[in-house]
Order: sequence, then C-alpha cells, then structure tokens
Amino acid sequence: MAPLKVLIAGAGISGPAAVYWLSRLPSGAAITVVERTQAARPGGHQIDIRGHGITVMQRMGLEATMRANAVREEGTCLVRADDKPVAALPAAPMDAARNNRQGITTEFEMMRGTMCKVLMDAAEGQATYRYGVHVTAMEEDTTGVAVTLSDGTSQRFDLVVGADGQGSGVRQLMLGEDAPSVYHPIGLYIAYFDIPRREGDRNWFTFYLAPGRRIINMRGGDRDTHQVMLSVAARNPNTATLAALLQGRAPVDEVKRAWAELYRGAGWHADRIADCLLDEGSTGNFYTHELAQVRMDAWHTSRVALVGDAGWAPTPFTGIGSTIALVGVYVLAGELARNTGEDGTVHVPAALGAYDERVRPYVTEAQNRLPKDGFNKGFFPPETRLGIWILQTLLAIVVWTRLDRLLPWFASDEIDWVLPDYPELGS
Ligand SMILES: Cc1cc2nc3c(=O)[nH]c(=O)nc-3n(C[C@H](O)[C@H](O)[C@H](O)COP(=O)(O)OP(=O)(O)OC[C@H]3O[C@@H](n4cnc5c(N)ncnc54)[C@H](O)[C@@H]3O)c2cc1C
Repeated sequence: MAPLKVLIAGAGISGPAAVYWLSRLPSGAAITVVERTQAARPGGHQIDIRGHGITVMQRMGLEATMRANAVREEGTCLVRADDKPVAALPAAPMDAARNNRQGITTEFEMMRGTMCKVLMDAAEGQATYRYGVHVTAMEEDTTGVAVTLSDGTSQRFDLVVGADGQGSGVRQLMLGEDAPSVYHPIGLYIAYFDIPRREGDRNWFTFYLAPGRRIINMRGGDRDTHQVMLSVAARNPNTATLAALLQGRAPVDEVKRAWAELYRGAGWHADRIADCLLDEGSTGNFYTHELAQVRMDAWHTSRVALVGDAGWAPTPFTGIGSTIALVGVYVLAGELARNTGEDGTVHVPAALGAYDERVRPYVTEAQNRLPKDGFNKGFFPPETRLGIWILQTLLAIVVWTRLDRLLPWFASDEIDWVLPDYPELGS
C-alpha cells in the first residue's frame, strides 16, 4: 500500500495540525510542507482554543502541554478613560458539561508562535519542511496534482492542502485569476503590535472605547511585552489617510504615523501608544490591515483542499479562528481516513466533498458571529461619548447580574454542531 503523497502549504496553525492528523491515515502519508517564510515559528499575539477545538486538542494528547505553555491572564475587562474597570469577567475554567465553555479569556491562551511550535513538535518527524518556498503552479488531473514550486522544482502529489492563511496562494491558484474576490471587508481597520511593559500594566485582556468608533485593546498576561490591538471603524472619516496608505502599500513608518495620529488624544493609554508608534524601537511585531472575512462556496476541488484561514478566515472578532482551523483539519483527515478502501486506496475526491459538507455548518456559524454588515452599520463601536456611556452601563449590568452566562456574545465557544468521531485515525 503506497502512502498518500500530500503537499501542505503553510506552517502556521493549520499546517502542523494537518501533519499530525494526516500522518495517522490508515494508508500512511508522505508529507511535504512548504512555508513561505524563511524559518518556523513566526510571530503573532495571543490566540486561544475553545469548544470543539479543545476536544480535538485533547485527542491529540496535547492538553497538558498546552496548559504548561498557556499565557496566564486574569480575565477580560472594559475600562473607562481613568483606567477604572466598568465591567470585568474573570477567566473561567472550562466547563466540560457545557461544550467546553470558557470565558472570553480562556484556559488555553497561547502566544501564536508557541502554539505553532507545540503543534509542530506533536508531529515531529512526520513531514519534510521546506522553508522559503511556495507553490507557483498547480495542474490537477483525475489521479493527482502536478505542482511547481518557487525554487523551480516540480513534483506530483495525490493531495494538496492549502493551509497558507488568509492571503492563500493555493486558493488563488485553485480559483484562477479571474474568479470573483472571496474577501469580504468587515468595515474595520486593525493594527497589532507589542510595546514595552510598564509598572501597573494589567494582566487582563483590557478594552477601552474611544469616541469616533475606536477601540484599544491591551493584554500582557504574564509576558514581558504588552500586546496592543487598535481597531477603528472604516466609517470614521479620519481613516481616509490610513486607508489610502494601506491601499498604496506605503512604507511601514508612514502607516504607523497614521495610526498614531488617529489615536493621539483618544484617552486612557492612547498617547503612550502613539508615542511608541512614532519611536522605531518601541513597537515590535507591527502588523496592520483592513479586516476581511474569506467566504467561499467550496473549499475543495477533486484533489486540492483549503483549511483554516485559507478557506474561511473569520477575523479575530469572532474569537474562534484557531479553533475552527484545528477542527477543520481534524475533519479533513477523518474524511480521508473514512474514504480509504480495504486495499489502502484513498478516494480523495469523495473525501474532500464529505469534508466540505461536514464542516461547513460549523464554520458558517462561526463566521456568522459577526453581524451581516460587519462594522459598517449599527451601534458598535460607538460613535459618541454618550454611546460609550450607554454601552458601558449595559455591560456593567450584564456582568453584575451574571446575564453574561446566558448571552451568546459571551459564550463564544458554544456552536451547536456535533464533532465527528474518527476512530479510523486512532483518536
Ligand atoms: C504572522 C501571523 C500573526 C498572526 N497573529 C494573530 C493574532 O495576533 N491574533 C489572531 O487572532 N490571529 C493571528 N493570526 C492568524 C491566526 O494564526 C489564524 O487565524 C488561525 O490560527 C488559523 O491559522 P492558519 O494556520 O490557518 O493560518 P495562519 O496562522 O495565517 O498561517 C498560515 C501560514 O502560511 C504561511 N504562508 C502564507 N502564504 C504562503 C504561501 N503562499 N505558501 C506557503 N506558505 C504560506 C504563513 O507564513 C503562515 O505561516 C496571525 C497569523 C500570522 C501569519
């Protein structure tokens, strides 16, 4: 029985998880991973695992390792300009009886780079990793895919998995150049970066709302740097300069300056953050873009499948991107295992169809956590000081009365969908 020859593009979260699960196929798998960056463990802020993602991670035998590497954060709070908390939700331990439900701060908060490493270590030796390489062409026929790589080499695979994130090159090749855009901007610009930690910085995931539909998030957990996330609705007319710079791919210091100007004077830690943005040495890991969801009618062809952000980037505002990536990969491998004949032949096209069908209701519900018009309409984020005060008051009441336990917005791990069991994977 020949092992399934698989190419995985992307060594983020989905890619290494796919190595783990595909290496457990009854047919066996000969796996190559190509990663566009020059080395493993790229950056990123805290990501987490929720709901069904916890079950998948437990089936990988990783619960203890994830706990040992988790960022310890005390909870989530909303503060006023004078730093007084208005509403605070302490981190809640997972409730296994309620779909592994947790609070907004979870027990499995991890720096993205750490989670990549944990996943990679879990499947050590199961794949050949090639860094600084990406797919430049794919030609698919009934028995496989002929792939050309950026280093000029070509190889044939039984299956190609696009785990290459929101800007997926595999997706672009799969759809072709003339396909309609699958990017759906949600009306929000976002910037992530690190700043030096300062005495008095909280170990909480802290939210501050500023007039003009601006949000500042800061979180540090037990780490040395503080993570900042700035978000501003595209409806704010002052975002025009930033929008033009992003569209024109302007140099990063110009973009940072635009963010600093948008936030200076916004209250709370805004001026400290603006100062850091203007001081080259004070911001690390700076990354900014217009947030968009990737929405597609099919995450596969006969022999190419997309997983994670490549297929369905939901945006960080759903709070569930890494979870649905882990679940998606597990279902993909499970359906490949289930569509393996007695002689060890994997019926790839049938498996990919079943994968898409199985996981679609789950992913769609996760994506639909954002309002249909994103942040282009509606009250949030508030425009005025009065709007902010109303929201603060409502949230304070919700938290004080413990209504948060009933409201879906706070129960961001509960998706009414049954995670399949795949004993074929030995899980
Ligand atoms: C650098 C970085 C930082 C991030 N930071 C955050 C964060 O702070 N908060 C958050 O919620 N989410 C963040 N994300 C997204 C988050 O990791 C995903 O939403 C989620 O975990 C699903 O992961 P994924 O593996 O599908 O995609 P990703 O994590 O995006 O991983 C995709 C991988 O594919 C690689 N890649 C891209 N293009 C190609 C190509 N053409 N060929 C080969 N490889 C390619 C990328 O370098 C990356 O390693 C970040 C992603 C990246 C890449």
